Amino acid sequence: MPEGPEIYRVAQKLSKALSNKKVLSIEFGLDRLKGWEEVLINSMITSVRSHGKAMLISTDSGYTIYSHNQLYGRWDIRLSKTAERKTNRSLRILIETSTHTARLYSASDIEVLDAIDLASHPFLSKLGPDLLDFDISENGLVKHITSGRFDRRALQHLLLDQSFLAGIGNYLRSEILFEAGLHPKTRFNNLESKQKQELAIIARKITKRALDQNGITIDYEIAENLKNEGLTKRQYRHWVFTRDGEPCRRCGSTIIHTRVGGRRLDYCPSCQPELT
Ligand SMILES: [Zn+2]
Repeated sequence: MPEGPEIYRVAQKLSKALSNKKVLSIEFGLDRLKGWEEVLINSMITSVRSHGKAMLISTDSGYTIYSHNQLYGRWDIRLSKTAERKTNRSLRILIETSTHTARLYSASDIEVLDAIDLASHPFLSKLGPDLLDFDISENGLVKHITSGRFDRRALQHLLLDQSFLAGIGNYLRSEILFEAGLHPKTRFNNLESKQKQELAIIARKITKRALDQNGITIDYEIAENLKNEGLTKRQYRHWVFTRDGEPCRRCGSTIIHTRVGGRRLDYCPSCQPELT
């Protein structure tokens, strides 16, 4: 499943293709949304942004198209005159402007929302601060996570809870915990206040790094060296994620694989010791 950085990159591309342009043609692939086509046609797209893993396309009609890709959704953006890519996927949204055509395939979690629905949306309204929303300060992140409501939870569950910090999925969870030197089972209220602050800072740092480095979460220099040694991106992109059985890049201990809530988590038992 794409995580915050991947969705953010798609939002940037969509924004470049659609923002401040008129909707010349719009189609929804789901019958329940067909009625919105005549409402949205000829409106201006005012903004495209992601929040966590949700995509929000707002128009001057007062309505916003919300979509969540979940496992299979995929956006395809091409110049308007270009033929549609051959695919067996189901077309779910098509938006055409004077320059580009954006198509969303396979996703089914799609809604058209007015401002009130948007503010009270059951998924969106529960989202914590987006790690890639740089209008939110580090203090803002820390204040949110130290509000008391997360205290009793273990980090391995908390980091995937989108109400804690939005945008973290499987690979970011493992990589953030490694960089913070925290064992996945550590309870949030067992952290000292300095560690909580560091966790927020590291969560943003790793997420931003993944955005800037196209999914690579290790330091740029280390990645370059490993690349020069002949490793593939899959082999060098992470500290611990999908590296179970291999030596930790920092201490040489064997990386351990576990599953939490059915989802992959890898960690270094030496760099991330369990608190006793
Ligand atoms: Zn280690």
